Amino acid sequence: MTMTQADAAVDRAAQALASGALAILPTETVYGLAADAADPRAVAALFQAKGRPRFNPLIAHVADLAMGRRVGVFDERAVALAQAFWPGPLTLVLPVADGDAVCDLARAGLDSVAIRVPGHPIARAVIAALGRPVVAPSANRSGRPSPTTFADALEETGVFALAALDGGPCAVGLESTVVALLDDPRLLRPGAVTREQIEAVIGPLAEAEDDARRSPGRMARHYAPQAPVRLEAAAPEADEAYLAFGPGAPEGPRVFNLSPTGDLAEAAANLFAYLRAADRTAPRAIAVAPIPTHGLGEAIDDRLRRAAGFVG
Ligand code: AMP
Ligand code: MG
Repeated sequence: MTMTQADAAVDRAAQALASGALAILPTETVYGLAADAADPRAVAALFQAKGRPRFNPLIAHVADLAMGRRVGVFDERAVALAQAFWPGPLTLVLPVADGDAVCDLARAGLDSVAIRVPGHPIARAVIAALGRPVVAPSANRSGRPSPTTFADALEETGVFALAALDGGPCAVGLESTVVALLDDPRLLRPGAVTREQIEAVIGPLAEAEDDARRSPGRMARHYAPQAPVRLEAAAPEADEAYLAFGPGAPEGPRVFNLSPTGDLAEAAANLFAYLRAADRTAPRAIAVAPIPTHGLGEAIDDRLRRAAGFVG
């Protein structure tokens, strides 16, 4: 694509969103299905397309901190985290500043709002062209693994989108970390920015109470493939597919090594695409190798437990 073609595609996506339609946008975490955050009818269409329960609050994606400040109330900790990690895979849950900028339906009626600046330049360009926030949950049908390639996004929800932009495979491949700054800072969802990185900026994070209404991304059996998932498996059994990790892992047609060198960032980027690839072999189950739980491993472990149907 030339620059002019890319600009035209960005403008078309922004116009689609302004008209109340949905658009598939690349972000650095996963592909998003976007809607104008201020337009309740567009947000309703988004819930319908995803087949998602209506009470899930969505993340408002903004072009920069200035746009974020129109939506949420930033205290010192919020500004420090925004400066440290935006653009990037960190979502801040803040008191709402303008209840119309992100409509009630998008906030599930809460008086808080989740905000982030996506790292992918195409997503930021579309939001800047629209001039206001979009909500953009992962472009999968509800309960399925998030799409991390353009092809997977089209397969999941392409039929519902008036515009779809190809930004290449997602560099991070895991959803954003969600931190609430309403009272004590709280980790609502582990993700691509690690607990250690956040605590280095604002100090200790409290644990999230496992309250599915406050953070529905924490519901069990989320991100689930068709086949059952078996965790902590040293090796696959008969008729199982296998997600391996690290050097010296078994090999075979149904084995997908998340990172042959044992690199957690590479494993995160491959996680959802390999879950899908393993699922496509129609296995009796998908066995998954033990994966370290430090750093990015906390988020990988969280998603795998949800894929396996355990409450986190
Ligand atoms: P997704 O859009 O699929 O990446 O998921 C959005 C995540 O942000 C979910 O885990 C939501 O529960 C969380 N979230 C969004 N808004 C709020 C809010 N106001 N309070 C708490 N969690 C929120
Ligand atoms: Mg999702």
